[in-house]
Amino acid sequence: AKAAGRNAIRFFDPAMQIALEENAAILAELHQAIDNGELELYYQIQIDEIKGIQGAEVLLRWFHPIRGMVSPIDFIPLAEESGLIIPIGRWVLESACHQLTEWENIPGRENWQISVNVSALQFQQENFVEIVEEIIVLHNINPRGLKLELTESIVLENIDIIIEKMHQLNQLGIDFSMDDFGTGYSSLSCLKRLPLKQLKIDQSFVRDITTDPDDAAIVQTIINLSNSLKYDVIAEGVETQEQRQFLFKNGCSQYQGYLFSRPVPITEFEQLISVLSAD
Ligand code: C2E
Ligand code: CA
Ligand code: CA
Ligand code: CA
Repeated sequence: AKAAGRNAIRFFDPAMQIALEENAAILAELHQAIDNGELELYYQIQIDEIKGIQGAEVLLRWFHPIRGMVSPIDFIPLAEESGLIIPIGRWVLESACHQLTEWENIPGRENWQISVNVSALQFQQENFVEIVEEIIVLHNINPRGLKLELTESIVLENIDIIIEKMHQLNQLGIDFSMDDFGTGYSSLSCLKRLPLKQLKIDQSFVRDITTDPDDAAIVQTIINLSNSLKYDVIAEGVETQEQRQFLFKNGCSQYQGYLFSRPVPITEFEQLISVLSAD
């Protein structure tokens, strides 16, 4: 009775009720967003201090006719809860592959990769490997150009199934990066079994790297772990030269962050590249 009482109070909380109705409205509109052409991919450069441009991560943007730009922070969780992340995620993969076909013809970009965020629910689809394969064939791209960013939440699925899927995708030539590394609850003994190419240091650790000794120690540990386990390592949320220098000194030479560029539309991304290439 006590629990029911608590639920009742929660249910009639007016603020909560408004939030729920708002979410329901956004969800209904999100259903239409793909067909209405309201989704767009923004590109954020990934750069290596020594090897130069590595490619870009694609980040989803939703341009709602009335609400304006809705942040993925606000709609990705809704898309995940409702299962809409499946068609949306497919659209993201297809758009990224379409972009890869353009890059493949440009000299100097042969080794560039596009990093695509894949949500746990999307990865857990039984036929995820077949879907990716289908998209690759459809767009006739070199699968080496594709990197999939997974989060630790994928390990909620049976670990053997995850490993099997990752191996199958690896065999196609696709790399994996572990996004937001260190923020999840999965154990290292679990993670070490995954065929990963890269660890991505979460921006929450990078932010105060030069002032907070704990964050500095965490980042150094992730870099050392990457080196020992032979993973590449990239830091996200790099905003200052001081952060970049700290990372480089400690053995991480790949960065992504506002210091280099915010995520931008493809036309702006191309401008950025031509400026960087002219230097
Ligand atoms: P994420 O994958 O961890 O992406 C990094 C987020 O940090 C992005 O936010 C990016 O714009 C932001 N960021 C990049 N550099 C900096 C920096 O220097 N400083 C700061 N403060 N922030 C920086 P965004 O674009 O709002 O995306 C938020 C999250 O939404 C992503 O976090 C990802 O989890 C999710 N997301 C975005 N696009 C997709 C998608 O296509 N599919 C899925 N499943 N999730 C997506
Ligand atoms: Ca990411
Ligand atoms: Ca991330
Ligand atoms: Ca993050």
